[in-house]
Amino acid sequence: MSVNGHGEPSFRQSVDLMFNRAVALMDLSPGLEEKIRVCNSTYTVRFGVRLRGELKTFTGYRSVHSEHMEPVKGGIRYATSVNQDEVEALAALMTYKCALVETPFGGSKGGLCIDPRQWDEHELEQITRRFAYELIKRDLIHPAQNVPAPDMGTGEREMAWIADQYMRMNTTDINGRACVTGKPPHAGGIQGRVEATGRGVQYAMREFFRHPEDKAKAGLTGDIEGKRIIVQGLGNVGYHAAKFLSEEDGGLITAIIEHDGALVNEKGLDVEDVRQWLKKTGSIKGYANATFVVDGPKVLENDCDILIPAALEGVIHLGNAANIKAPLIFEAANGPVTFGADEILRNKGTLIVPDMYANAGGVTVSYFEWVKNLSHIRFGRMQRRAEEARSRLLVEELERLSADQGLGWSLTPDFKKEFLEGSDELALVRSGLDDTMRTAYQAMREVWHGRNGVEDLRVAAYIVAISRVAASYKSKGL
Ligand code: NAD
Repeated sequence: MSVNGHGEPSFRQSVDLMFNRAVALMDLSPGLEEKIRVCNSTYTVRFGVRLRGELKTFTGYRSVHSEHMEPVKGGIRYATSVNQDEVEALAALMTYKCALVETPFGGSKGGLCIDPRQWDEHELEQITRRFAYELIKRDLIHPAQNVPAPDMGTGEREMAWIADQYMRMNTTDINGRACVTGKPPHAGGIQGRVEATGRGVQYAMREFFRHPEDKAKAGLTGDIEGKRIIVQGLGNVGYHAAKFLSEEDGGLITAIIEHDGALVNEKGLDVEDVRQWLKKTGSIKGYANATFVVDGPKVLENDCDILIPAALEGVIHLGNAANIKAPLIFEAANGPVTFGADEILRNKGTLIVPDMYANAGGVTVSYFEWVKNLSHIRFGRMQRRAEEARSRLLVEELERLSADQGLGWSLTPDFKKEFLEGSDELALVRSGLDDTMRTAYQAMREVWHGRNGVEDLRVAAYIVAISRVAASYKSKGL
């Protein structure tokens, strides 16, 4: 099965080929190599829901790639293109991603073949609850065994329905809410989860720009400010990444590519404004402050400094890889570059920050949410005021000393405000996410620069991840 009609390997085969490039540089026994590569199981379910006076049948999947750690973790996608090959590829990527950013999970993924835009909210709720029921009764949704999260086409709303469905079916499970992450904060979620994947892209990019040697490999200098960035997909991931990079770091979003075309403005697009337009009209067409281009995918080939594919897989393929002008690609989506395209890009010197790292912010904050649910207390609740009281003591003592000794200096109001503020949940989530993205990047670049034969960050990421999964299997005696 080809991922995009260019006669290329399927998405899952593409992930396996990338895995093979990495293990060729490692010293694993063939048996262990095979054990890590294969997908452990895929459950297919076909279920009926009575809607609009008829019985409608839906097909869904939940794939478990590796159970070297449990629970296994991975989003649930709603799209008409969902198929077993795609779900298995995404589950494999979850295994490697979790290992790379050190979240204690195996890899899983789910999907439902559905166009969510064709159904009303109450219909989607019925469908989601029925899908969840099928998975819950087989422990394929379970706080200790398998914990889904949002992916394309799903969000907080669907996760809240799933959590509620689980709790209806497991009324005495005190940890029931931990059966799924990405829930709204009022239903057991955590501050900062909705934005987490986009925020993670921002933190990853900031870390990349801290390393002159790495920037030089992409022919870039300076920091994010003023860099011309093209983003594909203005959904959860693309919107947040584009918003933070432009509003907080001074990046110029020179094009946004959506499913029905692209908007181009070399002076930089107002991301929030475009998002509001998209929300209001359901399309980017007709937006005033940009040039509309009908052929969206062609805009991937426009001149820019950074390209962020944040929609779907296989968008950079054998047919367009040679035309990509961006010297740096940040893979916010899963699998946006096919195996063949990856080779073409590598040979022409394009630097790729791989998906398993670039979009790991989501699973990182999902991990924090899961821990919060299991500990039944919001982060910061015990420490925040104690932290503030200690800081206040220090400030008051400094001010007293200054007055007593006639030193005449005083702390600026801005410093005082910031210093005195204890960390709330959002601040702690951001701190944990930032630390995770920095640490994981450093682990990858150490392998990239320090190990013979490692040509790019993707292979480095696979090597770090596979080594950790292998160590976990070995410690189990496998
Ligand atoms: P989403 O459904 O919120 O948004 C996807 C966006 O892409 C939508 O705006 C859609 O209109 C647009 N789109 C669809 N087809 C397109 C096309 N052909 N060209 C351009 N745009 C198109 O999905 P999301 O959650 O933002 O996920 C996007 C990608 O990020 C996926 O690959 C997903 O697996 C990955 N990802 C998501 C998360 C998460 O936390 N949501 C975490 C890690 C990785």
